[in-house]
Amino acid sequence: MNKSKRAAVIAGNWKMNKTRAEAKALIEELLPLVKDADCSVVVCTPYLDLETAVNATSGSNVKVGAQNCHWAPGGAFTGEIPASMIKEVGAEYVIIGHSERRQYFGETDETVNERTRAALDEGLTVILCCGELLNEREQGIMEEVVGKQLKVALGGVSEEELKNIIIAYEPVWAIGTGVTATADQAEEACAFIRALIAKLYSAEAAEAITIQYGGSMNAKNAAELLSKENVDGGLIGGASLKAPDFAAIVAAASV
Ligand code: PEP
Repeated sequence: MNKSKRAAVIAGNWKMNKTRAEAKALIEELLPLVKDADCSVVVCTPYLDLETAVNATSGSNVKVGAQNCHWAPGGAFTGEIPASMIKEVGAEYVIIGHSERRQYFGETDETVNERTRAALDEGLTVILCCGELLNEREQGIMEEVVGKQLKVALGGVSEEELKNIIIAYEPVWAIGTGVTATADQAEEACAFIRALIAKLYSAEAAEAITIQYGGSMNAKNAAELLSKENVDGGLIGGASLKAPDFAAIVAAASV
């Protein structure tokens, strides 16, 4: 395996934060701080901020993503947004299967698969989230849980389509809690995921796919986590809401 062959991606998940004015201000503060980044930089904003973010990042090295999309192209799904509308505003990425959607909005491995399918069909790059609960880690079943999540989520996804998928390993016990997985725990899980991709697809696909760690990554711990062979980037929640903190993580991924 050769980490240097893979694209490092640092993506911010703003969750349900930032008005349009705040989104514009945050991006304007961020752009000069990350302009020389040697990794991909993405901000995943609330739907209503997408257009503002696309305009504010125009001509820069920062890309924009959404935090979910529906599986249907349109129709009677009150309150939902299809992948085509995300694409239409100029966003290029979409987070699918975040643990908060699984926990609060009834997301299942099957609906994660359907949303992934819809996003790929629309030409979006998917940041596909997986990760175990605290009790599942304590029971020693991280690999079973993450393995099932990914096998189901990737059902019907071809090796060619896999090039438009980034996997984000996010242990649920580390998200928004301030508790970070140790660099060794992150590496162990990301290595397991890479081996699974080799089994499901091929050694080449496994070598090429970007696997992020997410869960309380911040300016202080990013360098150690990102130094691991199988950790190719980060999905960042809280620390993506402050430009200097997010930029410090981007800098850690750029060395
Ligand atoms: C996330 O929302 O994907 C996340 C990792 O959040 P935090 O960095 O705040 O733990």
